[in-house]
Amino acid sequence: MNTFDEIYAKIKEYPTIIIHRHISPDPDAIGSQAGLARAIKLAFPDKKVLCAGGDVGDLGWINTMDDVKDGDYQGALAITVDTADTPRVSDQRFKTADFVIKMDHHPNVDPYGVMNYVDENKPAASEIIADFILTEKLPLTAEVAYPIFAGIVGDTGRFMYPETSAHTFEIAAQLSKTGIDTNEICRNVSEVSLQEARLQNAVLNLMHVDPSGAAYATISQKQLKELGVTTEQANVTVSTPGRIKGIKAWNVFVELADGTYRVHYRSKGPVINQLAQNHNGGGHALASGAKAKDQAEVKQIFDELIAVTKQYRSDHD
Ligand code: AMP
Repeated sequence: MNTFDEIYAKIKEYPTIIIHRHISPDPDAIGSQAGLARAIKLAFPDKKVLCAGGDVGDLGWINTMDDVKDGDYQGALAITVDTADTPRVSDQRFKTADFVIKMDHHPNVDPYGVMNYVDENKPAASEIIADFILTEKLPLTAEVAYPIFAGIVGDTGRFMYPETSAHTFEIAAQLSKTGIDTNEICRNVSEVSLQEARLQNAVLNLMHVDPSGAAYATISQKQLKELGVTTEQANVTVSTPGRIKGIKAWNVFVELADGTYRVHYRSKGPVINQLAQNHNGGGHALASGAKAKDQAEVKQIFDELIAVTKQYRSDHD
């Protein structure tokens, strides 16, 4: 693994720096990308610093993307944030940059950067970016702190998930001292539209709970269409089953237009990322994603989830 100093030396060296994040972005993807870009721009006003990637959906309140031209990659440094593997990088032109640096907090299944800084014990890529900014003494203004705080709030579930540490709170305090409206950020991260809330409701109504504490719900294309909710917006339902006492691990299956399924895994203890890896996916120990080609694979995935949940209970109860 490379050091912050080595990464900073590369940033100093390149006149153009293009920052990428993952597809289907969440607040941590957009927040870590924007925070790093803004801090570099403030430290080096003469450099061209661009944020690349597809549609940001409802996250325009954190940041919007720049119009990045093919020619911008010539002699440029590309930095990816919050993105575990090459196919998940939003805008594959990052491969055409002169030099690639990966900064991430997922298990390092694909160290695709020429330099890689990966710390999977961090709850958010945004916390790594805050550490980088503070270590290398880049400017930490309110415009830098705002997206980083949003990323940390998003990926820690408002400081609830287990990787949240004393250091996370120390970073949050430093960000807060820049004068950002933390209340507004937390509200923006957690607010949903009425249609999204109705879909959350549907997930609770449809949820099947196994005696082991494993649970699942499937959202069909028909339901999405009826409620006027996109596949991306269906992400708001993923943490909903976790509010129920007794549920230890769960899947939310979202049917896609081609009849296959996007699979979400979440857990309060049983390790689920190895299960996700068996179905074209991956992620964190307690939050992963995968794909299922049909109902038979959906059933297999849930059977596997029941098995690890049972095992976890027999080890811990
Ligand atoms: P999601 O359920 O889509 O919110 O994803 C949860 C976590 O799993 C995120 O950290 C993703 O980066 C990761 N993840 C989701 N889908 C995939 C996939 N197909 N391959 C690898 N990692 C994934």
